[in-house]
Amino acid sequence: MIIVPVVGPTMSKALSQIRESERYADIFELRLDLINEPDPARLVRASKRPLVATCRPSWEGGKFTGSESVRAQLLLEAAVSGVQYIDIEIEADPAIRLLFNDLRPSLQVIISHHKRAGSRFRVASEYARFAEVRADVVKFAYHADDASDCRFAFEFLRLARRDRRKAIAIAMGPFGEPSRVLYRIFGGWATFASAGAGAESAPGQIPAAELREVFGAHLLNTRTRVFGLLGDPVAHSKGPLIHNAQFRKAGLNAVYCRFRTQNLRAFMRHIAPDLEGLSVTIPFKETVIRYLARTDRSAREIGASNTVFRRNGKLVGTNTDAPAALESIERAISARGKRFLIVGAGGAARAVAYEARRRGADVRVTNRTDARSRILARRMKVSWLPWKEFKNGRRGIADVIVNATSVGMVPDVGRSVVPKRLVCGIVAVDAVYNPPVTRFLIDARRSGSRVVSGMDWFLNQAVRQAKVFGVRRPDPLLMLRTLRRHTPAT
Ligand code: NAP
Repeated sequence: MIIVPVVGPTMSKALSQIRESERYADIFELRLDLINEPDPARLVRASKRPLVATCRPSWEGGKFTGSESVRAQLLLEAAVSGVQYIDIEIEADPAIRLLFNDLRPSLQVIISHHKRAGSRFRVASEYARFAEVRADVVKFAYHADDASDCRFAFEFLRLARRDRRKAIAIAMGPFGEPSRVLYRIFGGWATFASAGAGAESAPGQIPAAELREVFGAHLLNTRTRVFGLLGDPVAHSKGPLIHNAQFRKAGLNAVYCRFRTQNLRAFMRHIAPDLEGLSVTIPFKETVIRYLARTDRSAREIGASNTVFRRNGKLVGTNTDAPAALESIERAISARGKRFLIVGAGGAARAVAYEARRRGADVRVTNRTDARSRILARRMKVSWLPWKEFKNGRRGIADVIVNATSVGMVPDVGRSVVPKRLVCGIVAVDAVYNPPVTRFLIDARRSGSRVVSGMDWFLNQAVRQAKVFGVRRPDPLLMLRTLRRHTPAT
């Protein structure tokens, strides 16, 4: 169930939050501590959904600073007005809890506990505290410093499922997103999602519309297979849009979420065992390999894996960037015998250099930092061109020029790393896909050159990845349409 907090801060804003989120919320939470002069009866009348009344005191991370008796009165007023749930902190005076016992069973009590950021705890002990109180639902929230910290929420939910208790467990903050998306997989009763950006009642809440429409969080169950994007940053990734739409179209019980982590070791140890596959991005494409049972030849030779999947229970790494890039390029020109100049020496450059050489191209790399070109050239068995020579180079320097740097990517649109005089009579390939038409490609097209957009490469790799994740016939058109719908800039 998706609970949407109504946070005001004015009554009219609170009423519009209820109106606008009605179709995304299963339950509304009236945050009486965040709404100025709240009128619970009016809010109850405005909602077609069941309601939770919460008046979080400042000692538990809320905004209410009045006395406990005034707080109890406010909650009682909400209960009498017809809310179905009351949230009371486990550390509140037990007398407050007793007040609501008589209103059962039409009123249910959620007993909650919120750890302060930086607190250390053992999940088993935290869970055990709830055994001592009478609660219809137990709720535990804490701050996550890494996606791997979501394991505490999952562990809490597993304990509650064992005891057949309704439970909510949330890892707050930007690293805790998986706990908000995957709760049903671990037996959670509900999660919290905001009415929209800026209406969060706790850090890390994502909009209810996104939770429902992109992740389909309300449809997941204990048999759902979990995939995701591993890296940092991951917030603006298009992966969830693309892969979840493919899973839905293919009728697969699977979900794809974002795992923002800075602690790869903890993530691979505590979260990866519950996963079926991963897309891997900066900064882990190389380091992830050491945590895998095996890698295929491409990932091994490139020294980087952007795709991880489970085979016979073991995690295996492959690289879909490399064949995807060449598939796009070879729609414009066959690689065999052509002179490729790859600009950049990061993961994208490495993947193109490997696959272009494998397909018979004559490959040179050049990079702002010459030392990195040298290293890449040695490893990929290709040659390299000093950056200065590239910048002073002449027309005809290559048949294919690949921009494998991030230059030209939003917000840096309008810049190109390739001098204009070099773009004539070539096939110009850009790794950058946001925007899909970069300055480099515009320059090349104006000089009559053929161009290959990073968007084409991106979609190719997403199609390959979707296949690895079990989608038999991925639909690139659906991918493109999904991207267009959610990012007007593309
Ligand atoms: P990376 O490993 O961080 O490498 C970045 C490269 O860009 C380095 O060679 C860096 O040079 C160079 N660079 C950065 N700023 C520069 C500047 N101002 N002038 C000149 N060179 C500059 O990144 P990556 O993973 O290879 O990704 C590179 C780009 O490709 C990104 O935009 C990424 O989104 C895109 N990409 C697209 C696809 C796709 O499917 N279309 C797939 C993979 C990557 P130094 O070594 O000197 O720092």
